[in-house]
Amino acid sequence: IKAIAAPAQTDVKHALRNVKPQLLINGKFVDASSGKTFPTENPATKEELIQVAEGSAEDVEAAIDAARDAFDKGPWPRMTGRQRGEILFKLADLIEENIDEIAMLETLDNGKPFKYARTSDVPQAIEHLRYYAGFADKIHGKTIPCNGKMMAYTYREPLGVIGQIIPWNFPVLMMAWKIAPALAMGNTIVMKVAEQTPLSALRVGELALEAGLPAGCLNLVLGDGPVAGAALSKSKRIQKLAFTGSTEVGKIIMKQAAENIVPVTLELGGKSPNIICPDANIDEAVEGAHFALFFNMGQCCTAGSRTFVHADIYDEFVGKARERAMATNVGDPFGEGTELGPQVSKEQLDIILGYIEQGKKDGAKLECGGKIKDGTNGYFLEPTVFSNVTDEMVIARDEIFGPVQCILKWNTIEEVIERSNSNEYGLAAGVWTKNLNWMNSLSRGVQSGTIWVNCYDVFDAAVPFGGYKLSGIGREHGDEVLGHYTQVKSVYVPLEEPIG
Ligand code: NAD
Repeated sequence: IKAIAAPAQTDVKHALRNVKPQLLINGKFVDASSGKTFPTENPATKEELIQVAEGSAEDVEAAIDAARDAFDKGPWPRMTGRQRGEILFKLADLIEENIDEIAMLETLDNGKPFKYARTSDVPQAIEHLRYYAGFADKIHGKTIPCNGKMMAYTYREPLGVIGQIIPWNFPVLMMAWKIAPALAMGNTIVMKVAEQTPLSALRVGELALEAGLPAGCLNLVLGDGPVAGAALSKSKRIQKLAFTGSTEVGKIIMKQAAENIVPVTLELGGKSPNIICPDANIDEAVEGAHFALFFNMGQCCTAGSRTFVHADIYDEFVGKARERAMATNVGDPFGEGTELGPQVSKEQLDIILGYIEQGKKDGAKLECGGKIKDGTNGYFLEPTVFSNVTDEMVIARDEIFGPVQCILKWNTIEEVIERSNSNEYGLAAGVWTKNLNWMNSLSRGVQSGTIWVNCYDVFDAAVPFGGYKLSGIGREHGDEVLGHYTQVKSVYVPLEEPIG
């Protein structure tokens, strides 16, 4: 990703000029019914950005009422797929027209470097909307010859009101992943946005109205997970729940939805192995493994958080990985060369520092980093590298969700496959080799939803994404997700003659 200059005006007041810090219910921005608000903070400075409305269970009910009405009586599920597609294309265009502003909101709220928000998060969100806008008029049923004087045909119909709950690590992108296929298929939505990062969603919600999305089709509720999120996941009045977040909360949500037989899709955590073979181009592998772990300050569900390096190249790799981490440019997320900004919150920072202490206690070798970055005011950490990490250590088992690279040693292909699979997660994996047979054995043997070969964190709207094992249920992207947002209706019709 190339360096990119921040917009001329990066002051907070300018960035927030179009944000309505309220709930979006039935096409209007409204205060919370309790009148309560909560602050959203800039993690680079610890300053309050703005107070936003704090939604309660009552607000979630009002949002479900609006989504229900929009689905039962409104134009959205009744218009043609092509018309729906046009509105989603328009939304993508409007986001593109306002790309600097939305990327700035993302950086201020989340702390991610502006250049990544501007060249990766927001463009990928736009791509996602366009991809599913294109699908809106391409969903149809089948005609089926029956045994006898009968034929049948099927419709693919929308489900109704969809509850969606998203995390803070890629706010606008997670929003796009969820709303694009659900809306394209004709559903209406109540979305609970992460409490740490509400701003970009509010702006996109407003642009959706401007694009012509009818009132009540996209409702946004801000607020705490156990309050606003739980009101959504416990609701009997939604037809589906889609969740991205931690495995811990995913388990709670699945139980709650099960009470009402509401189907769930879950995109959860990971502890992804990134396997470096002895024949890999070592410099490319060091850079790739660095990116796999440190991108987005380590706050990626797919983070390559178990760097498995073959014994033959282990020492050389560790030395180069340490050098690369120490050379990382940590600082102002609006700085042109900045690679790492702050962690999203004090809570996350403290969790990561706790894991670093645990790593030292368990006997891993701290190669560099391990503490708060000197001279910073926000939640900045030094990029941290541990070597001599072994499978039973807590830092090799738990999802740290921070800039902490753990380097493990392996000897045989069979052994590294078994060790990769010994973890309960199965979201993603990396393989670095030129040997086609090793590539094949590793990609077939490692149990995870995505395998990247000689690359990492590549995403395309057309390619299925999701987890094996405790990393989730269901797939997003491509045509795989469409089954999660439609249901099939079969219609039988008698005939005078059977169809051969
Ligand atoms: P989290 O589980 O704490 O929160 C996610 C969302 O759930 C937030 O909106 C939160 O308010 C809400 N929530 C919390 N408790 C709830 C409850 N009891 N009922 C209903 N909703 C509740 O996760 P996070 O810290 O925001 O995000 C980090 C996690 O997300 C990591 O584990 C990461 O791996 C995962 N993640 C997964 C993917 C993926 O596609 N697999 C993508 C991004 C993030």
